[in-house]
Amino acid sequence: MADTSPNRVMLVMAHPDDAEFSSAGTMAKWAAAGMEITYVIITSGDKGSDDPDMTPEKLVEIREEEQRAAARVLGVKEVIYLRCPDGGVDDTPELREKIVRLMRVHQPDTLVTMDPLRRYNQHRDHRMAGTVALDAAFPYSRSHLYYPQHIAEGLRPCKIYEAYIAGAENSNVEVNISETFEKKIQALRCHVSQVPNLPEEEFKNHMIEMSKRMSGNAEGGHLRERFRRIEWRSRDRDGRTPPVLPDVPPSSAGSEGAISEVMTPPIVEALSEGELPRES
Ligand SMILES: [Zn+2]
Repeated sequence: MADTSPNRVMLVMAHPDDAEFSSAGTMAKWAAAGMEITYVIITSGDKGSDDPDMTPEKLVEIREEEQRAAARVLGVKEVIYLRCPDGGVDDTPELREKIVRLMRVHQPDTLVTMDPLRRYNQHRDHRMAGTVALDAAFPYSRSHLYYPQHIAEGLRPCKIYEAYIAGAENSNVEVNISETFEKKIQALRCHVSQVPNLPEEEFKNHMIEMSKRMSGNAEGGHLRERFRRIEWRSRDRDGRTPPVLPDVPPSSAGSEGAISEVMTPPIVEALSEGELPRES
């Protein structure tokens, strides 16, 4: 019998606000379609301020609350913070184990994370977050022989079907976010300590311009978010219903080997220094 449970999504990113800049339109769309989304935020962004009076402790409190508010706007079910130091995310067995454990607890079907291989104009924490999250999903969370202490505690191995990698230079899928762009704007505005303090319309236009710079102009002029999608396991094999929605071009469906390149200009070319969102 086909499993009709909602697709579960785990998003693993480095800082509060990374999810909203890269993927909020997609998360809002998926949440509205009944997908259960859990955020795992590796740091609480304790270095992300130029205010000389700000302390790391105060900033953690502010940014965790901003992230929770943004998640509520998008319909995200839960936000989990790992509270690694901002700027100190590393590819360690300890961090990998924590993420494997969360995958085994939440049993996501889909991972959303950051590009571990983007070469330039990239925060080190972002590369590390992508590396650890992708490794945790494949192969570490899948086999009971990795971290057997989890299994002894009663957790099950977790076989994630696919990953959506945000901020990738070689994206191969896009999600039309025209209908959820307003939610993305609202969610971004929750990150008061990080985004420009502009009147609503101005802020929206600023974000539309930024979105176009980051993801280019789609055919038909709709707003979009782009990802590199990789598939580790086919749902067919497990008698599962296919994922509800991702606007995967038909040529990109199927196994990783069958994914054809829907190449778009590298994001780095579309961005010019000084116009980047504040990223910390
Ligand atoms: Zn970041």
